[in-house]
Amino acid sequence: MSLLTTDRPHAAAGVKLVRAKGELRAILAAERAAGRSVGLVPTMGYLHEGHASLLRAARAECDLVVMSLFVNPTQFAPGEDLERYPRDEEGDTELAAEAGVDLIYAPPVEEVYPDGFATAVEVGGLTEVLCGDPGRRGPEHFRGVATVVAKLFNSVQPDVAWFGRKDAQQVAVIRRMVRDLDIPVRIEALPIVREPDGLAMSSRNAYLSAADRERATALSRALREVERLAREDSLAAALEAGRRVLAEAGIEPEYLEARDPDSLQLATDLGEGPALVAVAAQIGPARLIDNTELPADGTKTHAYRGKSARRPEQEG
Ligand code: AMP
Repeated sequence: MSLLTTDRPHAAAGVKLVRAKGELRAILAAERAAGRSVGLVPTMGYLHEGHASLLRAARAECDLVVMSLFVNPTQFAPGEDLERYPRDEEGDTELAAEAGVDLIYAPPVEEVYPDGFATAVEVGGLTEVLCGDPGRRGPEHFRGVATVVAKLFNSVQPDVAWFGRKDAQQVAVIRRMVRDLDIPVRIEALPIVREPDGLAMSSRNAYLSAADRERATALSRALREVERLAREDSLAAALEAGRRVLAEAGIEPEYLEARDPDSLQLATDLGEGPALVAVAAQIGPARLIDNTELPADGTKTHAYRGKSARRPEQEG
């Protein structure tokens, strides 16, 4: 019997919640045998409009839409916000239902990491810069991400998986992992969804006080300044101008750098190809990330759109 209901968007009750891998495999095997395509959107929950954009894209393309809901402990460093990371399974189920999700896979930690778990997926190079720099979050973060996403790909075996460009380094790491390990899935990366004032939506925005929330708008303002100046000046001068915007808001970024979007090698000019301009900064209790992509000719590409986010602390 198909999981698909006839009247979508359907009520939360129409979404199948699965916690065990065995059940997940059995359901998906039957769907695949019936010739249905499977789309996957991995999330850590506490959903906002950024997640919803991925879910809707999956809905538009695949017969069966699976959303994973798992706060992955291995991508949090000791002392990070794992314990406090906001959770709202009921609210997430409703939002997922509205977006047309058919099945939520929300395993307990021991289902993903059984006793004796000893394997990790490590994507070299890409994971040692930006957020992966050993002096920042470190490559262990991306080892946790790559390992859990590889496991999700094996458990769900999706035809297509959707990710947000909000986590641009994560997208580069996952694309490389899929290519290197011959994982038969197509990766789609969608634009950053923003609040009306430009702040990139994030579950972690909820950690911000009113004053920090206001200061946080400097991240997207700095990126816009980089975009603007990159059209008329050198990339280095544009980045310098971006740093000034941050400094005026009292923000000392962890980094504001231009890099090749695929190799993540440092970019010194826009002549050779597009550049990912990425920023990370601690704003009060929240470590936030944002980015934009400058095409080779220096014209801005990312559109701003958005609606209210809910809340949390350490990103990227
Ligand atoms: P998370 O729940 O934070 O692990 O995010 C799950 C997926 O949603 C990731 O692919 C993120 O890149 C994506 N995502 C998070 N915030 C946004 C946003 N503001 N716009 C677009 N995608 C997002």
